[in-house]
Amino acid sequence: MNCPYCGHLDSRVIDSRDVNDGIRRRRQCSGCGNRFTTYERLQAASLFVIKKDKRREDFSREKLMSGIRKACEKRPLPTGAIDKLVDDIEAELYQMGKSEIPGAVIGDMVVKGLRDLDHIAYIRFASVYRDFADITALKQELDTLIGDESAKSSRSTSQLPLLPVEPPLALSGGYRRHRK
Ligand SMILES: [Zn+2]
Repeated sequence: MNCPYCGHLDSRVIDSRDVNDGIRRRRQCSGCGNRFTTYERLQAASLFVIKKDKRREDFSREKLMSGIRKACEKRPLPTGAIDKLVDDIEAELYQMGKSEIPGAVIGDMVVKGLRDLDHIAYIRFASVYRDFADITALKQELDTLIGDESAKSSRSTSQLPLLPVEPPLALSGGYRRHRK
């Protein structure tokens, strides 16, 4: 198994866990030291995603990754955080042991994961995915986050503050940065 970062062939297994129908291994490249994850399964069961319009399509890790990356664009996340989130969601999906999973279930997993990871990325993803019907729904969501944050801030500062960092969210027309 070649290292996805440098192509080196040797890696060391630093953690291995049984998942539903296989083994998930966390590896560290002996060349560059980067970490990556491999899954070993009996004939990977095919997994279909059921879209809103009832179409079925093959589950795509790349698609999941690109949606999450987009939401996390320019956010100061620790290296590997996105890969880990994708790994976790993928593992959870396979652990469900189903062959078809509604897209909404995956979307909810992403929303949940991003909420813990980075509030801005979360709002970006949720505002597209949940399609906040109006400004009130979005404001409620923000209020909840800010409430959570001030409750949390007394004991931890694992996330950057929600408000001072970014300009106000534009409700339509994307996330333009305003400069003074
Ligand atoms: Zn490497």
